[in-house]
Amino acid sequence: MINTNEILSKYGLKLTKSLGQNFLTDANIIRKIVDTAEVDENDLVLEVGPGIGALTARLAERAGRVVAVEIDRRLLEPLSETLGGYGNVRVIHADIMKTDLRELTTGWNGSLKVVSNLPYYITSPVIMNMLESGIPWSLLVFMVQKEVVGRMVALPGTKDYSALSVAVRYYADPKLAFHVSRNCFIPKPDVDSAVVKLKRRSLSQPDYLAREFLFRVIRASFSQRRKTLLNSLGKQPWLEGGKERLREALARMGLSEDTRAENLSVEQFIQLASELCKKMPS
Ligand code: SAM
Repeated sequence: MINTNEILSKYGLKLTKSLGQNFLTDANIIRKIVDTAEVDENDLVLEVGPGIGALTARLAERAGRVVAVEIDRRLLEPLSETLGGYGNVRVIHADIMKTDLRELTTGWNGSLKVVSNLPYYITSPVIMNMLESGIPWSLLVFMVQKEVVGRMVALPGTKDYSALSVAVRYYADPKLAFHVSRNCFIPKPDVDSAVVKLKRRSLSQPDYLAREFLFRVIRASFSQRRKTLLNSLGKQPWLEGGKERLREALARMGLSEDTRAENLSVEQFIQLASELCKKMPS
């Protein structure tokens, strides 16, 4: 196991809070993350933010290949020391939000997984980016703030149910894997964490429904979550036919006029968006 304090002092590294640098130091948690991802030699694992490589090394022992994207140039040298013994790891110095994920993963014929202890400041954008990227992942395993996992796995009708919950369920079947105490990191973060496992699934939807339109409907519906759909989604200038059309769509779906975004499952959002994107009779 990599000795984090030793590496940090050897390279004179001060960790940067703004880059979400809380490094995992608990070997048991690292093993549990790799087990949760069921990593084997058939897998290419993409890791966001390897840090000094504590998780990366364990992934490399089990995966066919590991591609790790790290934004902080100062970590490249320590990484070449800690990962030098693994021939199947490629470290890329880049911002994950500006990286062409397809390019990183082309040419691999096995399965693709993404495993990461995500930097806190960009959890939702990275998760959405991975979900929507179009790369053929079969499994995503993320360690994030406990509350974010709560929102990802939330069911309709609960207070945590949000646009993120719907988006996650559109692409995947999410499960809380386990909780992680703040004592497992250097430095100790201000929040507790949890690991979430997202297994890909695909929902059927009509060919004429564009994904962009569906997500526009979802985001607008949750933009003012206390309001009814008629008063949030119904007031969007881009909604052809406006409130009246929405009222009819809700009626066709057997839903009442005071339905709110938090009441709808992802399947119902697909149905609603399908009703709303059909060409209106002229
Ligand atoms: N994987 C290591 C571990 O578990 O100990 C480090 C995890 S730490 C929470 C997050 C890592 O992501 C840091 O190394 C940080 O520098 C890196 N990072 C932050 N923003 C990034 C970005 N936009 N793209 C790539 N890496 C990023």
